Amino acid sequence: MTQNPITKQHYLDLPEAMFSAIAPSKAPAPKLLTLNHRLIKQLGLQTDWFNSPEAVAVFSGNADYSTQPLAMAYAGHQFGGYSPLLGDGRAHLLGQLQTANGDYLDVQLKGSGATPYSRRGDGKATLSSSLREYLISEAMAGLGIPTTNSLAVIGTGEMVQREQPQAGGIVVRTAQSHIRVGSFQYAAANLERDELQALADFVISHHFPEAANSESPYAALIEAVAARQAKLIPQWMLVGFIHGVMNTDNMSVVGETIDFGPCAFIDEFIPSKTFSSIDHQGRYAWNQQGSIAYWNLARFAETLLPLLDDDSDKAVTLAENALKPFQDQFRDHFVNGLKQKLGISRDDEEAQQFVEQVFPTLAKDQTDFTVFFNRLTELAAGSDEAPLLSLFSDQAVGAEWLKQWRELSDADVATMRQANPVLIARNHQVEKALEEASERDDWALFNRLAEALADPYQVADGDLDLLVPPEPQERVMQTFCGT
Ligand code: AMP
Ligand code: MG
Repeated sequence: MTQNPITKQHYLDLPEAMFSAIAPSKAPAPKLLTLNHRLIKQLGLQTDWFNSPEAVAVFSGNADYSTQPLAMAYAGHQFGGYSPLLGDGRAHLLGQLQTANGDYLDVQLKGSGATPYSRRGDGKATLSSSLREYLISEAMAGLGIPTTNSLAVIGTGEMVQREQPQAGGIVVRTAQSHIRVGSFQYAAANLERDELQALADFVISHHFPEAANSESPYAALIEAVAARQAKLIPQWMLVGFIHGVMNTDNMSVVGETIDFGPCAFIDEFIPSKTFSSIDHQGRYAWNQQGSIAYWNLARFAETLLPLLDDDSDKAVTLAENALKPFQDQFRDHFVNGLKQKLGISRDDEEAQQFVEQVFPTLAKDQTDFTVFFNRLTELAAGSDEAPLLSLFSDQAVGAEWLKQWRELSDADVATMRQANPVLIARNHQVEKALEEASERDDWALFNRLAEALADPYQVADGDLDLLVPPEPQERVMQTFCGT
């Protein structure tokens, strides 16, 4: 049998104040509920160890750990308000596993018990929220969007106290890094300058080695971190994804989607859409995500000012310059991605104007985001106009839109298909799958969704029901952190 692949703990190299060494709590009756064979294969690893009793022990707090488990310290702006100390209040970073090609990936348990950062929380997670993270991260991976991945979900065998008592769960996640913008905020506020520098150097050496060769490595770091976000957020938006809690502690410096709370995909398109029950102001709405990412990056850049230059004016200028490319990069990624969805490659004024009007047009009728682009793709592939036209409430508007599209489109169908997933993780299906699995131990829909979402550009005949938008009475209007 293969061995436990978790063999390193890189974070011990960080300044001590950045983490607390602490083992996870022992789950009383752990059970492996779902194992991500797709991911294990992608990492080039064998499944045998992951299916073993030893793996279940490692993933449930019941092992003698050969690498030091730890909880990371971080701060963060939550809905704009600064919290000086957050940290992993219910997560334990076990260490890094090594993939077949030699890369190291973090393995973290979430829902694994209290840590010094738990504050009033119990350190636990509900099974339902763990399964939610599993499904949505699988959906993101299938869409080719950088994300942390879910390796497994463990049922802990204990109930956690929420509004109602609920089954407890642990999601085992992998990530390139667990260092967040909030990690830098914590370091800047609490650590000496050389310790802050050690954190920045750690991130550069592990994730942005090219920045080390720059004339100003820390400005290069800001620019590189910003470039990842400028690419990531348009990818979210172009599949209708709303993260829901883009607090600075939920933004990874390596540009992976992280911390799946009340996140959700849009069905009917409303640009200012939010799902999260706690996002009263619409701070993290679909159409705010770019400017919020930029705001978070400004908080990141501020933390590095002491490293940029001893002269604070010069430091600010360097930071501002490092953030400057973001807006254009973001716009380019967004517009190019949208043009791929539309099958338009022309670059002239006329094409630009048309592309700019697409989302306002969809918003007028609150058209289903995914269905619209799929019907357009089918039309480009030779289908009838009727299915697309039927999405417009005003047929004259639809006919005119189509006429313009035909003039502008050079419809490379293969590119359009690659830009337009047929399947997204629709909330009503996700909620149903979670309820059936966590409350009735019925895994049929969960397993079907997990498998289908991993390959969302085509769908088996037996899964066609998963593509259907919710009836108005089925719509899920709100999602909850459900921690
Ligand atoms: P999140 O909303 O998951 O990004 O979490 C925000 C902060 O609250 C982080 O510091 C978490 O560790 C902490 N937290 C969330 N749920 C719990 C819990 N059940 N017990 C302890 N801390 C928690
Ligand atoms: Mg978080």
